[in-house]
Amino acid sequence: MTRALLPGHGASRGSALGRARVRLPHVLEVAEQRIRQNQVDGELTRLHDAVGATRGEMHELRARLHGALAKEVGEFLDLHALLLDDPELLHGLDELIRTGRYSADYALRLQRDRLAAVFDGMDDAYLKSRMDDLDHVIGRIHAHLHQRVADTGGVAGEILVSDNVAPSELAQLQTQGVVAIVTAAGSPLSHSAILARSLHLPLVVGNAQALQRINDGDILLVDGSTGEVIVSPDAEDLRRYRARLREAAREERELGRLRSKPSRTRDGVDIALWANAESLDDVAHAHALGAAGLGLYRTEFLFLQRNELPDEDEQFRTYRDVVLGMSGRPVTIRTLDLGADKADRTGLALSDEDNPALGLRGVRLSLAHQGVFDTQLRAILRASGYGPVRILVPMVSSREEILQVRRHIKRVALKLRKEGHEVAEHIALGAMIEVPAAAIALHGFVDVVDFLSIGTNDLVQYLLAADRNNDALGELYSPLHPGVLRLLRHVIGIGTEHKVPVAMCGEIAGDAKMAPLLLALGLTEFSLHPATLLELRRAIRDSDLGQLQARAGKLLQARDRAGIERWLKATP
Ligand code: PEP
Ligand code: MG
Repeated sequence: MTRALLPGHGASRGSALGRARVRLPHVLEVAEQRIRQNQVDGELTRLHDAVGATRGEMHELRARLHGALAKEVGEFLDLHALLLDDPELLHGLDELIRTGRYSADYALRLQRDRLAAVFDGMDDAYLKSRMDDLDHVIGRIHAHLHQRVADTGGVAGEILVSDNVAPSELAQLQTQGVVAIVTAAGSPLSHSAILARSLHLPLVVGNAQALQRINDGDILLVDGSTGEVIVSPDAEDLRRYRARLREAAREERELGRLRSKPSRTRDGVDIALWANAESLDDVAHAHALGAAGLGLYRTEFLFLQRNELPDEDEQFRTYRDVVLGMSGRPVTIRTLDLGADKADRTGLALSDEDNPALGLRGVRLSLAHQGVFDTQLRAILRASGYGPVRILVPMVSSREEILQVRRHIKRVALKLRKEGHEVAEHIALGAMIEVPAAAIALHGFVDVVDFLSIGTNDLVQYLLAADRNNDALGELYSPLHPGVLRLLRHVIGIGTEHKVPVAMCGEIAGDAKMAPLLLALGLTEFSLHPATLLELRRAIRDSDLGQLQARAGKLLQARDRAGIERWLKATP
């Protein structure tokens, strides 16, 4: 095959050279196949072994997940594991083999089609969309029936070329030796893309011609930054690839040297780099890289993947260990942010809301369940006896919510002290700015918070009416919108005016490319996953804050995404 360049969108950077493994969109094309009575037991065993192998595979995947993404990707895996245990699915399959005398493969196909019809008839769009998950699980069982390590699999040095890739597959693909992934569909803002970045697995999405132009075994050169895929690279491409590898190794060494350096701009302004964490691994990492503290400790992970709520002692021990892990640096514990895409199994978050992203989530849920909220506050306040703790409240939309939380904290602290517990005298209380109305009307409650943290992941989705998890929206969900920048500037401005520190803890705070823009808007505190902390530190050390802020007016005048991108490009 002659050289060809196929354009796409870079979703997780890094270059990779490998052999293509093309996976065509999954359709369970199995012809009707009957078995004899004396084959029934054997066929049932074959099926049960395949289901068992699939279950084992999910457990293994689940155990490999950690860090900021564990909760998001874990949810997909948990859902897949639940489907796998579903009696409807399993008994139906057994019945089809036993009484219908179908082969396990055909039973799988029949059962899939039956369930598809049920899902199709559902009114709930969310449940309807779970059919993809069911297909994924059935595809895996089918692969195990043939003892293929899933048709999603690859071997060392292969580049998976597919229509799409599920977040739950990524970690396993990497273990199997897949060195990059190219998909015809998908968005750089999907869960898969976020996870690929955290795994440092190069990913190109939206490469429309990939499935038509690439064949199994083709040699591919993938650039996860530009989104370019070269089929059958020539000598010059290979030379450039090797140069890029040398450059990446050099960069890693250079970043390593920044571990003990301050996060100070060229013109001498110190910028606070906080870490986002949800596991002790993250805490250790954040500590080692010199994070100012934890800017966002997500407590949801304690509540997900289980059937009963964690009690006060379990929560207390967890929070205390995080506080101890940061050895004296402040730890910002966010109160429970369940609901919407972070649905739990304990029944706390409602599962039947028509519009869960706009439903009873975040602080609304905590205030609606006083007992649960008090238990969490007790645990957090007890942990404050072991080191500096701040409390961050998610999804705040009004002054009254903050005042209510303050009253709860005061009451709980009083009771704890009476019981003889050590509780810090002052615990700073902050609000997440994720609801547009809270951002716009910040002047109305800035006096009742000690600090603010902008959650751009949600703020952007609510501001642009674009679901953060919907791949189909592509670039519609993007912080590079003049409306977003103006609102960020407004929030930072109000905070500065009232001397209330403003941090940002959404994904964009960890994107070094966005740093000049955020610095220009006046942001001086970033909270990000430790994985990109050194890159951000380097971007900050390369920036001249005075120069950037002098260009802020121009940035705010940008009329569209292209204008903002031009501003970023023109940054020295
Ligand atoms: C956010 O919305 O930006 C945020 C940090 O919270 P989460 O991603 O946990 O919703
Ligand atoms: Mg949020």
